[in-house]
Amino acid sequence: MSGTLSFEDLKARVEAGEIDTVLTCIVDMQGRLMGKRFHAKHFIAGAWEETHCCNYLLATDLAMSTPEGYASTSWSAGYGDYVMKPDLSTLRPMPWLEGTAMVLCDVLDHHTHKEIPHSPRAILKKQLARLEAMGFDAMMATELEFFLFEKSFEELRKDGYRDLAPLSGINEDYHILQTTKEEHVMRPLRNHLWDAGIPIENTKGEAETGQEELNIKYAPALNTADYHTIAKHATKEIAWQQGRAVTFLPKWSADKVGSSSHVHQSLWKDGKPVFFDPEDDLGMSALMKNYVAGLLKYAGDYTYFLAPYINSYKRFQKGSFAPTRIIWSIDNRTAGFRLCGDGTKAVRIECRVGGSDINPYLAMAALLAAGIKGIEEGLELQAPFKGDAYEGKSGHIPHTLRDAREALLASDMLREALGDDVITHYARAAEWEIDDFNRVVTDYEVARGFELV
Ligand code: ADP
Repeated sequence: MSGTLSFEDLKARVEAGEIDTVLTCIVDMQGRLMGKRFHAKHFIAGAWEETHCCNYLLATDLAMSTPEGYASTSWSAGYGDYVMKPDLSTLRPMPWLEGTAMVLCDVLDHHTHKEIPHSPRAILKKQLARLEAMGFDAMMATELEFFLFEKSFEELRKDGYRDLAPLSGINEDYHILQTTKEEHVMRPLRNHLWDAGIPIENTKGEAETGQEELNIKYAPALNTADYHTIAKHATKEIAWQQGRAVTFLPKWSADKVGSSSHVHQSLWKDGKPVFFDPEDDLGMSALMKNYVAGLLKYAGDYTYFLAPYINSYKRFQKGSFAPTRIIWSIDNRTAGFRLCGDGTKAVRIECRVGGSDINPYLAMAALLAAGIKGIEEGLELQAPFKGDAYEGKSGHIPHTLRDAREALLASDMLREALGDDVITHYARAAEWEIDDFNRVVTDYEVARGFELV
């Protein structure tokens, strides 16, 4: 259970006049909340069982365009409905919105009531079921990095996003004074999320002007993905309430460090971490070594799910703390995969490839699929890299969205784990992003070539 309200609690709070609205949401391909605002009394009277949404919601782009080319939905098929099935274990208050609770829904076929295979929650649940059949649970944490800006979303949109001034003009990594100036956003964010049942650990300044990080305690992977999605949504809403804008774009300026979403991973059995072996020099069990070897072997295959847009690839720059190479290392922030908590029960692997634009369900599902394959294949883990990983000789993370899409399409591992239809669906999403970008003429091209070509 990731929520904090039982259905009975909800009824009592509605009766007491404390809650009047229930947001009923699915998670879309981009990891956003989409859905309806129910009058709480109508939700309790029946919508808690199911409601409906247009099936294009799992086939739009960021701007809500409806590209052709998806087997699941189209103009010719008439854009029918999906069933939104509330998962009542996710019911929780949304304390930053007056009188409001929320619930996440699974997405089901209208006729068969089976889960839609390309729905992000279904994709993660499928990998968790595979793990469960092996006797393991996945404990994960995702970090959220983002930038806060002086102006509001509305002002910046009207300005064409030209006057992007971060709230702080000073690198605020671990900086208490600079982050005090952002407490009008960050304090309500921590406190409201906590009251929504999301186990916030802390926020801290990050290594750029106006860059913040939100850390949430590790939890079972599905809960972690739910927490991430709600926390990202809350960050935007609370910043908006305070007249500020926030961006999760991985690289909003060529001159600024990018924003990441590192994924911490460990496997557990019966409440005990099975990645830990006290006899090993680094405290890594044989199982953990197989898992990490799987992450490394298949890193190219699943990079698309950690970097799904054109902009995602601008973040992977040498000397930027965003990785470029498929390498693992001990507590080394230059590597794509960083061993954390070595020699302790908290031993875990942190994947540093993902940007702040990940869909956490897809990212974790893809990482788990690779780790599971590493275990199944009994893969041997190479020795850890030492030094500056940017100078390493190992494989490179795909350089562009086009490369990552090709690797996705060519991945037998992901086809086997996620299903061919799911791969085809997301490869179409990637293709659309590439085509859409290729249709526009950028400021860069004009400035570069206007007089000089
Ligand atoms: P960093 O050095 O990257 O800042 P932290 O100590 O702040 O690392 O931890 C980062 C994240 O790792 C936190 O969200 C924490 O809950 C998570 N974490 C701690 N132990 C585990 C574990 N055993 N498995 C998965 N995640 C964990």
